[in-house]
Amino acid sequence: MLNKKSVKDIDVAGKKVLVRCDFNVPLNENKEITDENRINGAMPTINYLVEAGAKVILCSHLGRPKGEFNMKYSLAPVAKRLSEILGKEVKMAEDVIGDSAKALAADLKDGDVILLENVRFHKEEEKNDPEFSKALASLAEIYVNDAFGTAHRAHASTAGVADYLPAVCGFLIQKEIEIMGKALSNPDRPFTAILGGAKVSDKIGVIENLLEKVDSLVIGGGMAYTFLKAQGHSIGTSICEEEKLDLARDLMKKAEEKGVNLLLPHSSVVATEYSKDAEHKEVLSEDIPDGWMGLDIGQSTIDLFSEEVKKAKTIIWNGPMGVFEFPAFAKGTTEVARAVASADATTIIGGGDSAAAVIQLGYGDKMTHISTGGGASLEFLEGLELPGIACLEDK
Ligand code: AMP
Repeated sequence: MLNKKSVKDIDVAGKKVLVRCDFNVPLNENKEITDENRINGAMPTINYLVEAGAKVILCSHLGRPKGEFNMKYSLAPVAKRLSEILGKEVKMAEDVIGDSAKALAADLKDGDVILLENVRFHKEEEKNDPEFSKALASLAEIYVNDAFGTAHRAHASTAGVADYLPAVCGFLIQKEIEIMGKALSNPDRPFTAILGGAKVSDKIGVIENLLEKVDSLVIGGGMAYTFLKAQGHSIGTSICEEEKLDLARDLMKKAEEKGVNLLLPHSSVVATEYSKDAEHKEVLSEDIPDGWMGLDIGQSTIDLFSEEVKKAKTIIWNGPMGVFEFPAFAKGTTEVARAVASADATTIIGGGDSAAAVIQLGYGDKMTHISTGGGASLEFLEGLELPGIACLEDK
């Protein structure tokens, strides 16, 4: 299990601390934040540092400004919101490593907080340019990474800067690696993973790694049809990755060899076309008629998957069970979310679509952990080393 130093393992009082957060929040046309989950996720670390008397320098990216200053992607709305939450002004720098940032950083008193402009206003950020990392590091004495959502990227502010400063994690990253790390290294059993979403190709690494660890692997969503076809079933016009059929067969063989109980959709809700109003009906997945495509799991599959979930003591879920964006094909995802929420188990939701679905359905606080990183949680579950975590000091 990863054992990284956190903000609690280092003396921060009176020190300038550069904190990489994930403030990549959605904004509406009036530059109002429409979902502040990511800001809330960063608050425990920020509050701790403020109370400990650190001089806090926050930084983040927002959107994809492609290496150029573009006020459309300014972090100013985040500074405004942080000021409201903290009850004191969070000054916003006009730049990232320029005169404004340097002046504000130099002026910091213990317990003060400032926010730098969007780190992706510099193309050097995503290139992990050493000079840029060094300039960023020169603003502070300690580096804290708390941006799990970008921890799978080796960028200047997520990894490079750790070459020049003592580097530790914040509470958000700590929680992510503790909970997911325990599930992967020492899970309470039975351990069930539920995978869904559109494509097998996005999740090959995750399936391979989880097959070494889980007792049951439940596969739904579009990716299930590649497996069903590989078993020789007719899948109509369901989404299928022809070039992954052999791989699907290998994975099913591996599951059998490892004694992993692999569950696929027994029944499907099929439609005549990919649209929200498409004519639809429920059929056995092994017998999808020509011209029909599977867009959700059927009722007997919901029952089968829910039973499996009920037995589990550790559950990891990533990817919807169907095209949940269309209400007619959302039931599988909704019902699996309900089953996971009521399971007497450690329940971990990978980021991305399944996290959004769970929160939207109001099951957010019923889960042990909802990861704040889609890509990052997938790479973590693949067993890959994340650069934004690897760069931090070991305990
Ligand atoms: P991913 O990003 O790989 O987790 O995939 C999420 C997407 O998979 C969602 O937009 C779903 O609409 C889509 N999806 C889930 N089930 C199906 C399906 N049976 N056919 C086509 N797309 C699907």
